[in-house]
Amino acid sequence: GGVLGDLSGSLSRAIKNMNNATIVDEKVLNDCLNEICRALLKADVNFDLIKNMKINIKKIVNLDNLAAGHNKRKIIQQAVFDELCKMLDTGKPSFTPKRGKTSVVMFVGLQGSGKTTTCTKYAYHHQKKGWKPALVCADTFRAGAFDQLKQNATKARIPFCGSYMESDPVKVAVQGVERFKKENCDLIIVDTSGRHQQEAALFEEMRQLAEATKPDLVIFVMDSSIGQAAFSQAQAFNRSVSVGAVIVTKTEGQAKGGGALSAVAATKSPVIFLGTGEHMDEFEVFDVKPFVSRLLG
Ligand code: GDP
Repeated sequence: GGVLGDLSGSLSRAIKNMNNATIVDEKVLNDCLNEICRALLKADVNFDLIKNMKINIKKIVNLDNLAAGHNKRKIIQQAVFDELCKMLDTGKPSFTPKRGKTSVVMFVGLQGSGKTTTCTKYAYHHQKKGWKPALVCADTFRAGAFDQLKQNATKARIPFCGSYMESDPVKVAVQGVERFKKENCDLIIVDTSGRHQQEAALFEEMRQLAEATKPDLVIFVMDSSIGQAAFSQAQAFNRSVSVGAVIVTKTEGQAKGGGALSAVAATKSPVIFLGTGEHMDEFEVFDVKPFVSRLLG
């Protein structure tokens, strides 16, 4: 089920059909790859990514040059596995907060993506491991944003700050970061606005916030159901702030997981966690290889 549902079923079917063929020839290989491409496209993976993947696999699996006795099925399967991993693994691990040093992590993403919820989950995850996290609400645009963060933070017993009066998000963010640095918090999480009158204003605000708070890491939060929009959305945020990691939310009820692969490609940043529910502890560390293994069934 979840993010793996439909996509996983289709991918493992494609591999199974190939495995069941009496002889693995060009046609069987093409059928298998086409089926995989269709499944990925249906799961909203960016078209260019899929095209490249197919070209790469065809390059690796050169049936003519494979001497008899080679296990073609295994070679194809391995190539598919490796290419899917490559789509998710940027080769550049994300910044991870270090003990004994204060890290500032800024969250960006569109309203409704699950950003505020994910900020608390991220803080809670680290708190359980002995960190001293703190939450700063720098969303002064949406009425209710601070209350929501306050409620989540209180439930998790995590220190927080924000303002009902101040309308300048940069001021609120800088004050919050300064305060929690003085209080010796080692993980300061800045929640930001996800909506504006104009989209350009939102991205400009993100740029200013990053400039003022100098985050060690910017995390882009996306809802797994946004589909093909993932690529351009991630790219747009990445243009205004340098995104260093991706968190995909609402993955538990979602049949389409392809947006994640697209966001990784657009930002060249790895997925680090998956949101799997509304509760604070419905949050999983993301690992490429086990994910792809499950994907291929
Ligand atoms: P924001 O506007 O981006 O800050 O989004 P919120 O944090 O307010 O989340 C929007 C809605 O999505 C809320 O109802 C959350 O409870 C819900 N939500 C966030 N993450 C997840 C998740 O991983 N799974 C599910 N099912 N719901 C989530």
